[in-house]
Amino acid sequence: MELVNDLLSFIEKSPTAFHAVKNISDALEASGRKRLTEGEKWELEAGKGYFVTRNLSSVIAFDIPEGAADSYRVIAAHSDSPAFKVKENAELSVRGKYTQLNVEKYGGMLFAPWFDRPLSLAGRVLVKTENGIKTRLVDIDRDLLVIPNVAIHMNREINDGFKYNAQVDMMPLFGSESAKGGYKKLIAEAAGVSEEDVLGCDIFLYPRIKPAVIGYEGEFIMSPRLDDLECAWSGLKAFLAAKKPESGVNMLCVFDNEEVGSGTKQGADSTFLYDVMQRIAIALGMSAEDAHRAAAASFMLSADNAHAVHPNHPEKTDAENCVFMNEGIVIKFNANQRYTTDGVSAAFFHKLLKDNGIPFQHFANRSDVPGGGTLGNISGSHVSINTLDIGLAQLAMHSPCETAGAKDLGYMVSGMEAFYNARVRLGEDGEFLFD
Ligand code: ZN
Repeated sequence: MELVNDLLSFIEKSPTAFHAVKNISDALEASGRKRLTEGEKWELEAGKGYFVTRNLSSVIAFDIPEGAADSYRVIAAHSDSPAFKVKENAELSVRGKYTQLNVEKYGGMLFAPWFDRPLSLAGRVLVKTENGIKTRLVDIDRDLLVIPNVAIHMNREINDGFKYNAQVDMMPLFGSESAKGGYKKLIAEAAGVSEEDVLGCDIFLYPRIKPAVIGYEGEFIMSPRLDDLECAWSGLKAFLAAKKPESGVNMLCVFDNEEVGSGTKQGADSTFLYDVMQRIAIALGMSAEDAHRAAAASFMLSADNAHAVHPNHPEKTDAENCVFMNEGIVIKFNANQRYTTDGVSAAFFHKLLKDNGIPFQHFANRSDVPGGGTLGNISGSHVSINTLDIGLAQLAMHSPCETAGAKDLGYMVSGMEAFYNARVRLGEDGEFLFD
């Protein structure tokens, strides 16, 4: 229960990827890990922990071992969730009486649950300083906007299915006529500067939904952004709880922009992870051969939530390779390797979970649906190490309010901690030795 409450308060404090990364960075700093920047020279010491952010929306943390940095144990998750982003020219007027905000989709989301609930704004603002530009995070943190439904009387057929148009149906009501010009004012105020000093911003709508524990025995959690802050937070928790590594580097990566294909400078399809690994090798004086040997002996858990069997639509999932909330860590398989798990990485993780008594289950899409991709295979194209895709079973993925299992959180944190504490050496190709 304590874990669940901690997760839910982390999610509430993290309305955007920027806030999630700030909260993760704060926790890392509080634990004694040192903040690095990409622009400085890195001096790394054995036995010490570090972290570096990119774009303030992705973060990589790592613990240098006392002994040899002969492998990496990497957990990756994502910081972003689908939402609506406010356009640069942010306001729209309707018949001179209403002021709306002009928004567009970020990622693929379910539209319907965004209607008829209080929404707010959060993100980052670039402000003018005496000698340049600086980033400030903002969160308006009050019930501010609504995307109102059309009344049933004006759309009698809506319950037979409706095609939403993002430019027409999804604009949130911001205020009356007098709200004109208010958006910039609000953002500047939240950033603590005058309107002229706002030089740029990335502002998103977020739902003002209070996370809740529900179900007959409190067995489910309902919250925005469970995909993927649940895995990001679990990774952080495990990273902080893991034993100080004697050998091998523990790494936690939380990447932005998974929901839009990861192809940004800070996404999983960037060189961020590769760059950090290279710089660790350089700072520790490793030879190129040492670095290759370390990569060969490394494992990555790509952690992103999975689809539980839907109570109203069990037919949407495979008859046997289907997963349920509260039944353990989900290991995802896909023959086309959109999920990276294969016999080797599955065997490695099965052994680890069995040795530690942690429940797990297996997911594959129905053979007639393509399903979604995630970070693992994208990251693998830059840093080629043994990877498997895991997650926790949840309902209503990409709704502004999702449902997951309360018990699963503990399984994930324990499984990830066991992963960080595992010592695996490479034998011949296809052979792994557990110390
Ligand atoms: Zn996800």
